[in-house]
Amino acid sequence: MRFLLAPNPGPLTLDGTRTHIVGDDPAAVIDPGPQVASHLTALAGVLDGASRVVILLTHDHADHAAGAGRLAALTNAAVHGPGARAIEDGETFDTSAGPLIAVSTPGHSRRHFSFHHPESAAVFVGDLLIGTGNTTWIGEYPGGVADYLESLDRLEGLGATSLYPAHGPPIRNAEAAIRSFRRHRLSRIAQVRRAFARGYSEPAEITRQVYGPLPAPLRAMAESGVAAMLDYLSDEE
Ligand SMILES: [Zn+2]
Repeated sequence: MRFLLAPNPGPLTLDGTRTHIVGDDPAAVIDPGPQVASHLTALAGVLDGASRVVILLTHDHADHAAGAGRLAALTNAAVHGPGARAIEDGETFDTSAGPLIAVSTPGHSRRHFSFHHPESAAVFVGDLLIGTGNTTWIGEYPGGVADYLESLDRLEGLGATSLYPAHGPPIRNAEAAIRSFRRHRLSRIAQVRRAFARGYSEPAEITRQVYGPLPAPLRAMAESGVAAMLDYLSDEE
């Protein structure tokens, strides 16, 4: 497995998007990243000589998927994933380093796949987890929180030792990381539940109670997450 880091660092992408390449020929590219010519040309260079390339998308956020069309043209590859050719849960993609198996892991995004690589006991997890800290954004849609917790269970059930997020370094103790992300989310849900019980009901108010003051872009992300957690709590009753 190799990876190339796209030059798109930021508060949500950490040091940038990691584009992973599994196998030589056939080769699979997971999350080509943003539409940045230098990154896509570098990827095409690494793939030069492969007669069969497949591009896999974990989800359709621009920092993962926007470069897919350009890379597909450069490498004569087909693109599979949300927003492209549909992927089935359990679908297998061959690489010269062993198969990748698609695992449906929604939550961060309504349609989100992870790719299990049994040969190396690893899972490429997109944005289901990130490589630092213990939280990922779960505010895209109502139902995202329940999906996210189920996806963590499903990921844990694969029994992998390494996780490769698209942002941040690899996770080498998969089980501990999954537990930590789950624990963090459940404690946030408990904080939201307590704020609601104290009479706060607007996501903006609850976000202030739970997170304190935040800069505007992060506040918007946190508020959408709080709205998703309120939705989760309303389903609990
Ligand atoms: Zn994303």
